[in-house]
Formats: sequence, structure tokens, C-alpha cells
Amino acid sequence: MNKTELKTELKTEIKTELKNRVPEMYGSLVFGDDAMKQYLPEKVYRKLKQTMKEGRTLDPEIADTVAEAMKDWATEHGATHFTHWFQPMTGITAEKHDSFISPTENGKVIMVFKGKELMRGETDGSSLPNGGLRSTFEARGYTAWDPSAYAFIKENTLCIPTVFYAYGGEALDKKTPLLRSVDAINTQALRILRLFGEKNVKRVTVTVGAEQEYFLIARRKYYQRPDLVITGRTLFGARPSKGQEMEDHYFGTIKPRVMEFMTDLDEELWKLGIPAKTEHNEVAPAQHELAPIFEDANNALDDNQLTMEIMKKVARRHELACLLHEKPFAGVNGSGKHNNWSLTTDTGVNLLNPGASPRENAQFLLFLCAVIQAVDDYQDLLRVSVASASNDQRLGGNEAPPAILSMFLGDELLEILESIEKGDEYQQKDQQTMTVGVHIMPCIAKDTTDRNRTSPFAFTGNKFEFRMPGSGASISDADVIINTIVAESLSRYADELEAEVARGGDFNEALHELIRKAIRNHKRILFNGNNYSNEWREEALRRGLKEARTTVDALPAYLEEKNVALFAKHGIFGKAELESRYEISLESYIKTVHLEALTMIDMTYRDILPAVSSYVNDLCTTALNKKSVLGDAASKCNEALLADRLSELSAGTYEALRELEAVVAKADDVDDMTVKGHFVRDTVLPAMDKLRRQVDGMEFLTAEDKWPYPTYSKLLFYV
Ligand code: ADP
Ligand code: MG
Repeated sequence: MNKTELKTELKTEIKTELKNRVPEMYGSLVFGDDAMKQYLPEKVYRKLKQTMKEGRTLDPEIADTVAEAMKDWATEHGATHFTHWFQPMTGITAEKHDSFISPTENGKVIMVFKGKELMRGETDGSSLPNGGLRSTFEARGYTAWDPSAYAFIKENTLCIPTVFYAYGGEALDKKTPLLRSVDAINTQALRILRLFGEKNVKRVTVTVGAEQEYFLIARRKYYQRPDLVITGRTLFGARPSKGQEMEDHYFGTIKPRVMEFMTDLDEELWKLGIPAKTEHNEVAPAQHELAPIFEDANNALDDNQLTMEIMKKVARRHELACLLHEKPFAGVNGSGKHNNWSLTTDTGVNLLNPGASPRENAQFLLFLCAVIQAVDDYQDLLRVSVASASNDQRLGGNEAPPAILSMFLGDELLEILESIEKGDEYQQKDQQTMTVGVHIMPCIAKDTTDRNRTSPFAFTGNKFEFRMPGSGASISDADVIINTIVAESLSRYADELEAEVARGGDFNEALHELIRKAIRNHKRILFNGNNYSNEWREEALRRGLKEARTTVDALPAYLEEKNVALFAKHGIFGKAELESRYEISLESYIKTVHLEALTMIDMTYRDILPAVSSYVNDLCTTALNKKSVLGDAASKCNEALLADRLSELSAGTYEALRELEAVVAKADDVDDMTVKGHFVRDTVLPAMDKLRRQVDGMEFLTAEDKWPYPTYSKLLFYV
């Protein structure tokens, strides 16, 4: 057996061994159904399950028993601490660890966990962003267990998923609004289902599968780049000679080191009951993707947050660095998080599945129209849901959706909608015709709806895929908006149809009319072509679609009257909560750019200019030596010419550097946040671009061993 054969055999063995262990390992660190059954008295178990199913808060009467059981289970699995695990508006997760120990009279300790500790926590969250919702003298924030998400063990700590709110009940986190929005869409979807005569469905849930893109690079090289370490993206870097033009990475073979990382990652995720399913290479070199099996929105949110955290941790173990920034490398594909979204009933029906009968078809078309209308009516909110300084770098760039919303339905579905709108009959090849609620729609094959990879919001057979969210963002931002705006369309439809039925009108006729009207009014948002093209941008603007190129343009949507009313109507956000979210997002945008600018200034003064000077000095020395040996023949030697070009660029660099310093200082003097946001966008970012152009020009001309940082080639192709 040769070496390669041996390796393959070993790998297969490891895989088989892993496969045998998976069922036992899966969810072993989650206090899930099995653990509950085992550790809770039957009566308490049933009560808890009921609470979870109905999305209520825990009954204090059983809290102590549940806490005790959780603690027993957790300590048996090696936990010594517990924490309320929550998702503040920083977009990452927060935890404050307490140990279970409690002193006894004889100087020993016992492990204790009380119901009140499980149910509610109090935390001094004054250093977490709150957007003015808590002035510092009322710095306390409260965390409360969300029983609809399972507790789990991470690093010897029992983590209890919680919501985080202020004294007045205002949401201070990303989970609370998601739970509110899930309730809102449930309420409205049920009204629609009742109109279709559905009596058995008690709850409609939002299902979400978040495909996660990321980069993996060598850890040693990562540490050599202050820009990556401090800001998450490269602020300088000349284009590599081999870019992604060759497109040989996508679905290419996975390198052994990356494969080991993925295997290890899967194992860690599975233990936490995170259904990681597919791992593959992405379009850019060193870029990869992880797709989980979809879950209800709340668990999908928790699991995606954990996935990001664990990716970074596992990468470290493999001497790799996992980059979750939306645009770590200029000129190379950015990373997104494709948010797959649908609605499912507790009877197991996916409401975005066209179905097989005329009734199912009609119901599907109504839900489809609700999403179309929602996206068209609230383009601005969808845009703001993905707005950040880092995603600004990606949207509208290489292989990324533009900053304009549109929807892809595929040709067949679009044709059906058009024929309904026009009132004529959709002519299939076999000459069948279709009327809403009477005829069966032609079957729409999944592959006809999965072709357009450029659409920001694509229908993919039985779900929608929102592709604008950034790779590092919390999916809560996008899903809160999708849930709320679709709830709004559904509530309007329900109002209209309920009134018609009360009037004794014909349901099918009213339905047909409503669908026609919705298509007529909102078809401008439908676009099946190439979203990456310039022609589309022009066409979109002609259609009156909105374009908010930057975060600063997008953010005011939070405060617009029609949106404030929408959030109030569905109980998602009050005005103060919206104002706080506006403020936090704007502040984070400003801080991000500020930090990037300072990092650039530092890198240029301390590393780049000295390196170039020293290289120019080498060149000049060589030129001088040449001249002294070779005489005038060497007066135009390439060293002299190169030194001349580099000196010129380095003078330009210094000038750009001073300009950037000046505008950063100026930005510091602006107090009004909105004015500051505009200044950062219009003045600081362009000054950064200018400096980068100069520096990248020098990198291109400088000997690689003289350049202070690993180049793009070294970062991207040598994992
Ligand atoms: P692909 O896009 O590669 O063809 P799929 O369409 O099967 O793969 O799934 C992509 C993602 O969408 C996965 O995370 C998957 O779990 C998720 N997904 C599939 N069905 C649904 C659904 N009904 N609701 C939400 N997400 C879904
Ligand atoms: Mg997909």
C-alpha cells in the first residue's frame, strides 16, 4: 500500500468511526427532550413542554425543580458554572458566569441552582450599547429565560438562553424582537388559514436556515496583519496575480487541513445539537460555506450565533483564523449569510410549498403575494436590516447583491402571476388553463427556481432566500423585518377577505381579485435577470425602486413614520426602541470606520513607510555601487528608476496620510451623530481609499521580503 492509499484508508476509517458515534453524540450537550425526560418528574416534564410549546414564561411553581434537574444534568456533564446567555445589540453574545457552589456550615461547598436564578438574572449592562434606553444611573438590565430555546453546555458552563431588557421592559437585545415578530406573523397567518377553512392548525412557525460563508487563513499570517486582527479586514493589499478569475475553487476538492477543521467543527456543533449539514468551498479562494438544516427562527438564531463563535474557536485549534467579516479582501468575493425563510404549520405544512390541489395552490399564491408586497412596500426596512459599515464594503461589489431590493421567482412562476394579473389564461404547452382556487397550477420544478444566484431575494422552490445579510451579522436583524413586513401584508389581506366573507361575498372571487391587485401593484419588485449588471441598476431606478448605497442612507428608515406605525401595530418595537436601534447602528458605523482609519494611519507610519524607505535605500545603494563600478552606463539602471517611482509614491502616501489624519481629527470634533455619519461616509472613507491606492501601488513595486505584511497571494493561496 502506498502513502496516498494509506491516507485514504485512514480517512475512511475515521469517517466510519465518526459516523457510528454521531447519533449518540448529537445534542449530548443540550438539555433537550431526552435529558428533560430523564431528569424531570413526569408531571413537571409535561408542564414544561406545554410552556415551551405555547411560548409562555415558566411557571414559578416548577422553577426550582427544573433548575435542580438542569444542574444535576449539567454537573454530570462536567459543568461547574452557569450563565444567562444573551444577545445584546453588539450583535455577538454575552455571558456572565456564576458558579453553582454554595458554602455549607462545615466549610465545604455544595452545588446549588435555584429556580429564581434560572428564571431571571440581573446584570450591570451599562457598558453594553443601549442607545439611550438606560441612562447609567439605571444601568441594570434584566435577563429572563426563554423556555422556547434549549439550555446547553459550553466550556464547562451551563448556558441558559435568555432575553435581555431594560427596567421599563424595552428590548436591549436581538432575541426579544425576534420572538415578538414570530408571534406577530403567527397571529396573522392563522387568520388567513382560518379563511381557507383550516381548523386544525394551532400555530404557524417561521423556519430559517442560515447558510454561513467564511474565510480560513493561516493563523500565523493572520497575526502578521494588524488590520485583520484589529478590524477584521485587510485595509491594504495589492491584487494577487491569481485572483478568483479561474473559478477553480468553488466546489473544488477541500484541502486536507481545511477538511480536518470541518470535521472537527461538525463534531463540536453536533454535540450542541446544531444541525450542520453541508460544508463546501465557496467562489473565492480560501472561502467556504456551512449550511445547517433549517429550524424554527429562534433556535436558528441561537445556533447561528454559536456556529460563528465555535468556528473561530475550532480554527484556532487548527492553527487557522476564521474570518467572518463581510469583505476581508478587496477585489475578492465577500461573505454573506443566506437567510432561507419559510412558514410551517404545526401540522407540518410548508406554506410556501405550491401544493397539489387548487385550494393549496390558491393559499400558496396568497402567501407568495404577501411576501412580494412586503418586500416592495418595505424595501427600505429590508435594506436597513443588513446595513453596517462592513456590509457596505460588500454589497454592490464582486458577486454580491446590489444595494437595491428585488425578487426572483423564476420564469414559470412569473408567467403564472402575469397571466393572473392580465386576467387571461395561462397557456401551458398542453393547453390547460388556470383560475385561482379552481385549477391546479402546473408543477414548478425546484431547479427552475434555483438558477439565479444574483438575486437578493429569491424564491427557491418552497422558501425564500434573502442573500443580503452580512456574514458577521446576527440573522435576527433580517428575520425580525421579514416576519414583521409579511405579517403586515397578511393582516391587510385578512382584513379585506374577512370583510368580504362577512358581507356574504364569494371567497374565491375575492381572493382572485386580491391576488390580481397585489401583482399589479407590486410586480415592479420582480426581476429575473442579472442583478449584478449596471443595466439593472438603471432599470430599477426607472421602476422607482429604492437604492440606499450606504448604511448612512439606509438608517433613517428606522425612524420613518410609516415604519414606526408598522412596528407599533404588530408590537415589535416602540418609538424609543427604534430610536435606540438607529443610534446604536449609526454609532457602530462611525466607530468601525474610525478604528479602521486609525489602524491605517498606524500601519503606514510604523511599518509601511519605514519598509519602503529601507527598500529605496537598498535600491539607491545598489545604483550607486553600479555607477562606481560601471560608470555612466549604469546611470539609468532599473534600481535607480524603481527608487524614483517608489519615492514618488511614498511622497504621495505621506500626503494622503496627513490628509486622513486631518479628516479623522475633524470628525472627532463633530458632535451631532447624523452629521458625523455623513462626514465619515463622504470624507473619511474617501481619504482612506486614497491612502490605500498609494500604498497598494508601493506594495506592487516592493520586493516581497521587504514588505512588512503577508500579501494577498500568501494569505489566500497558502492554507
Ligand atoms: P441548496 O440551496 O444548496 O439547494 P437547500 O435549498 O436544500 O440547498 O437548502 C439551503 C438552506 O435552506 C439549508 O440551510 C436548508 O436547511 C434551508 N431550508 C430548506 N428548506 C427550508 C424551509 N422550509 N425553511 C427554511 N429554510 C429551509
Ligand atoms: Mg441555497
